[in-house]
Amino acid sequence: MKVLTKKLKILGETARFDVCGYTRSVDSAYHLNSFIYPAVGGKNKVYQLFKVLLSNFCKANCFYCINRKDRDCPRYRLEPAELAELFFSLWKKGYVDGLFLSSSIDKDANSTQEKMNRAVEILRRKYNYSGYVHLKVMPGVDEILVKKAIRLSSRISLNMEAPGTKFLKNISPDKDFSALLLKNLNRMCLLNREYPLPAGITSQLIVGAAGESDRDITSFVFHLYKKFNLKRVYYSGFEPIVKTPMEGLPPCAPLRELRLYQADILIRQYGFTPSEFVFDKKGNLILDKDPKLVWAENNPERFPVEVNTASIEELVRVPGIGLIGAKRILLRRKEKRITSPEELKGIRINISLSLKFLTFNGRYFKRESCLIPCDENNPVKEEYEPVYINQI
Ligand code: SF4
Repeated sequence: MKVLTKKLKILGETARFDVCGYTRSVDSAYHLNSFIYPAVGGKNKVYQLFKVLLSNFCKANCFYCINRKDRDCPRYRLEPAELAELFFSLWKKGYVDGLFLSSSIDKDANSTQEKMNRAVEILRRKYNYSGYVHLKVMPGVDEILVKKAIRLSSRISLNMEAPGTKFLKNISPDKDFSALLLKNLNRMCLLNREYPLPAGITSQLIVGAAGESDRDITSFVFHLYKKFNLKRVYYSGFEPIVKTPMEGLPPCAPLRELRLYQADILIRQYGFTPSEFVFDKKGNLILDKDPKLVWAENNPERFPVEVNTASIEELVRVPGIGLIGAKRILLRRKEKRITSPEELKGIRINISLSLKFLTFNGRYFKRESCLIPCDENNPVKEEYEPVYINQI
């Protein structure tokens, strides 16, 4: 039991890095048990996921990674049956709601994937477990293994790590971006059309380690959503790890990660294209403001929009109004014409932020004459759905 506890400690702790990434924000989300991770699902319900690596032995040497081959650290692996039994006992006791299984590339990608698949297969067949499983796909594995992973899982994911070949080389020189990652993602996407996964396919990028700009990232991610129909892309701010070649580099600013998540929502849900974002000279999003607000301030000819006649597409581009708020405005104006900001009370929008971009029945309400107090010290209660970095 002692050995198992040790294994779990290491394999759970390093699973936080999701092997090919590390999200600081996730750290605080972890329970004291290093392997239980709260993730946010539908209707913002929190699910406790058992997130663990099958192995932290790795044959690769990615510069930033805690589990890189040349890094001196304790190494463990779980056997598929051991993992399945362990997870099932925790699930039966009600400690966890689902499994998130990842791994380093142990002997090679195929044999690692085989073992991961096997663990889930045991869980499904022997224990009749029918709940949530998120399974990582190792870079470049054979199609038959991807097919099997899809059949066994609720969600699969492949970490793209960087937005293109030249960036990947800077952090993971052993990996061929096109052959191991892009081709594999394409295959996963085609198979998902044949056998649709209940929770789709996701990917993850490291931010701030490979010399990439936010322009590079948003362009690449736009392409991923369009071509591969991904459910989500996650952004892992780079955090230097001791005893790696990148230990001396500065970490990614947490705000950069947040702005990328906001830009991601604008692409996925609000119809924005990367060319519409405003970037600084280095090609990065402006850190101190939400990208939609920056866009609106740079496109004054698009405003103000009339709250009674604007289309939903126009409304969701107003800072302070999100999808839910826009839909509620449409419902409210069916009942009667909206003539003042006060009539939008109770709708989920940030009125103080949206006011200067709207007219009400032709009337423009200046901020200073607004009847609803504008709290300048607390200006951005985002109109977005909350940005849950740990969303399932
Ligand atoms: S493949 Fe690279 S990123 Fe993934 S676990 Fe191995 S060293 Fe780390």
